[in-house]
Amino acid sequence: MFEIGIQLRQERGAENVFDFSIGNPDVEPPEAVIAALRRVVADNRPRSHGYMPNAGFPEVRAIVAQRLAARTGIGFAAEDVLMTTGAAGAINIVLKAILDPGDEVILLNPYFPEYRFYVENHGGRAVAVETDAGFQPDLARIAAALTPRTRAIILNSPNNPTGAVYSAEVLRGLNRLIREPVLAISDEPYRPLVYDGLAPPETLGLIERSVLAWSYSKAMAIAGERIGYLAIPPHLAEAAALRNACTFAIRILGFINATALWQLAVAQAPDATVDVDAYQAKRDLLCDALNGMGYHAPRPQGSFYVFPRTPIPDDLAFIRLLQEEGILAVPGAGFGRGGYMRLSLTIPRRDIERSLPGFERALHKVR
Ligand code: PLP
Repeated sequence: MFEIGIQLRQERGAENVFDFSIGNPDVEPPEAVIAALRRVVADNRPRSHGYMPNAGFPEVRAIVAQRLAARTGIGFAAEDVLMTTGAAGAINIVLKAILDPGDEVILLNPYFPEYRFYVENHGGRAVAVETDAGFQPDLARIAAALTPRTRAIILNSPNNPTGAVYSAEVLRGLNRLIREPVLAISDEPYRPLVYDGLAPPETLGLIERSVLAWSYSKAMAIAGERIGYLAIPPHLAEAAALRNACTFAIRILGFINATALWQLAVAQAPDATVDVDAYQAKRDLLCDALNGMGYHAPRPQGSFYVFPRTPIPDDLAFIRLLQEEGILAVPGAGFGRGGYMRLSLTIPRRDIERSLPGFERALHKVR
């Protein structure tokens, strides 16, 4: 998609290319985050740039744990939090810790495509299970997919690519299904990005055997800084062993530890979030316009993606028609769900407005 984007820009001029393909925040980090980083640099406290315990600075982990405990009611302490290289780092260390070759990990289709590689990185086997019509986890299908080899299920709410937020009822249902040794890995980089005042149900609180993979990439618009954490609830029977194995995995996978300065910075502004209202306004603009033309584009409840049906079942063919209009979108097939496309709201509002005639022309070509 990146290469096609370069080519299209050369052919049509950059101002006539509308890139809905990238999940990279298009806004600057909140001022509180930049101010925190400035303070950390100015303080220049001794050993700010040195190695630290593999799981991160103890005082940073204590701050994260305290806020998690307040939010979830679970008695998290510093030792239960491992600072990581983004959510990707958090998921990889937990998979490294728990998987033996041939163990199975359930992924809910459609899913973030890197999950499959993360699972296979550690000798696991990805088992894709379809979600229901509203992109919620389908309990009956998940129950049927559980086998003696199942070790984990990856949950992602708010979801990339669908924008769905899992309901409390579904999470309670999952809690009944997920029994030792299965672990739910709740990947939540988009949690703060929810719309219409929604409060996403707390997976950690509702699923007893869940761990949290967190990232500040999207909420703080610092994706390039690679900072996140893994939280392991102390009530898990295997909590101590899992903490040890994950801490070892941080080292041996070669990430070493999460970047030192950013650990210190996020601890000083832990709740700062980008302007969610701006994403919501772009969501409404795009969904209203597409639905008005005759597309089927449900409003996402969270994340910054819209996941409309393509008007023809062949999503790749439709993506090519959009490209003729200078519009870059990601085919649903890339997420395991053909017949859809993912449009990222990390695009200037003006570009959304200017892209709309192209969406209309592409639709008319197939009608
Ligand atoms: N999980 C999901 C669903 C994502 O969309 C992404 C990044 O796009 C990640 C994990 C990786 O997050 P990070 O870049 O913070 O490691």
